[in-house]
Amino acid sequence: MEVVREYFSKIWMLLSSIDIFDFVDIILIAVLLFYAFRFIRDRRAGKLIAGIVILLIFQIFAINFGLRAVDFILGNFFKVGVLALIILFQPELRSALEKVGSEPLKGLKIISEKNMIQSKALMIDSICNACHRMSMDKTGALIAIERETKLGEYINTGTVVDASPSSSLIENIFFKNSPLHDGAVIFRDERLYAAGCFLPLTGSDEFRELGTRHHAAIGLSELSDAIVIVVSEQTGTISVTLNGKLKRNVDLKNFLRSILLESSESDRNGKKKKAKGQKNPIDETNVHSENN
Ligand code: ATP
Ligand code: MG
Repeated sequence: MEVVREYFSKIWMLLSSIDIFDFVDIILIAVLLFYAFRFIRDRRAGKLIAGIVILLIFQIFAINFGLRAVDFILGNFFKVGVLALIILFQPELRSALEKVGSEPLKGLKIISEKNMIQSKALMIDSICNACHRMSMDKTGALIAIERETKLGEYINTGTVVDASPSSSLIENIFFKNSPLHDGAVIFRDERLYAAGCFLPLTGSDEFRELGTRHHAAIGLSELSDAIVIVVSEQTGTISVTLNGKLKRNVDLKNFLRSILLESSESDRNGKKKKAKGQKNPIDETNVHSENN
């Protein structure tokens, strides 16, 4: 009984010593961690940071077990490494610091589930309307929708637009001779985020008959989970690629809705995504060489 009383009195003492500044402290740390996480998540630096964390664990291990040579090497590596990282990521760090000054709480804005589904539906509608019109006019287009895999390195090859999606904006971008018509449009967080982006080409021989626009769509879908839509300039055919597979003449609206909206619904219902066991919605590779 005495032990329990002592235990609670200790907790009480701890709690009573907490003041308003401790709360402010915790909130500021949470905001800083949030921005640091977002900064790392949106860039390829994520893998680098994972590597550094592993080396740090090694060093802690080396210090605790007296492995002096490993400790010496890693200690020196970190001394030089911090400086090297600052030089390497100087542009990103600068833009991150500038953002802290200009829009400190934008990232914390909580978008309700309903709003997110509405903005996804708006994005799908504008992409579908634009693609159908471009298909009739035989205007070539390449549109990637970012999902879990971040496409920062491809966004960097183009021009950031960061606009609300609209079919006229998409058509305007791909209009022949417009400055951004070459390359791909990338959607991020339901916004038309960048245009004129260069996508990686597939190395697969399977798609030899197709041109580079289709190669770029397949290439990106091999390296990421993005959905990529192609409107052929030659035939007006609308195709989509996902997980390295290509489907021609697709019912675009149903396809996008089934992947983007139904996955949000099932997330909301608490169903876990089974990344490995999940069937690719493109279950056939339907390439017509004569049709390209
Ligand atoms: P289409 O059926 O429209 O003719 P295609 O697959 O035959 O398409 P090309 O005729 O070679 O392809 O299309 C060239 C256009 O594709 C370029 O003008 C450019 O806009 C786009 N493109 C080509 N390569 C890339 C790439 N790596 N990243 C983004 N866009 C690309
Ligand atoms: Mg062509």
